[in-house]
Amino acid sequence: MALPLTFYGNPVLRKKGAAVESMTPELEEFIGNMFETMEEYRGIGLAAQQVGRAIQLTVIDIRSAENRPSTLEINGETADPNSMMPLVLINPEITPLNDPVSGPEGCLSFPEIYGDVTRPEKVRVNAMDGRGESIEFVCGGLLARCVQHETDHLHGILFIDRMDRASKTDELREDLEFLQKETKAVLE
Ligand code: ZN
Repeated sequence: MALPLTFYGNPVLRKKGAAVESMTPELEEFIGNMFETMEEYRGIGLAAQQVGRAIQLTVIDIRSAENRPSTLEINGETADPNSMMPLVLINPEITPLNDPVSGPEGCLSFPEIYGDVTRPEKVRVNAMDGRGESIEFVCGGLLARCVQHETDHLHGILFIDRMDRASKTDELREDLEFLQKETKAVLE
């Protein structure tokens, strides 16, 4: 079942997610619903806050973004990033491994709003997967960008907080203000 999305202006997007202690049948069902939601809205990543729940859980599937390459290493061996999809990350921790690069981002909680964000190009990820097992991998390119964007959500950080100065035009500020007002009006 696809869940309703939360949009910029909804306070849940600013909430730091509680750590997930263990997998439960309820959480498994929630993960299934998050994948359905991400698919319905054609996203490549979705954080729990974006469906109204402040816990440290995100789902990712970059397979539809064929024109933006990703890299993956598991145990020091190069692997096919698609082989890891779809991906569930619980309580993810990120270690930057190289220099930041600028690249375009959007977010399902910010319809029609895009901008460039500078982030490390390659990161190490430690997390729990959807079966409750510990995983560690190194990723680069789009997957690294996506993992960092989603992990930010789990801490109440949004891509507009990190957006490059050049992308923060007056038009963008106006769009953000409009979206925030619209969201608050619906919530009242
Ligand atoms: Zn987002």
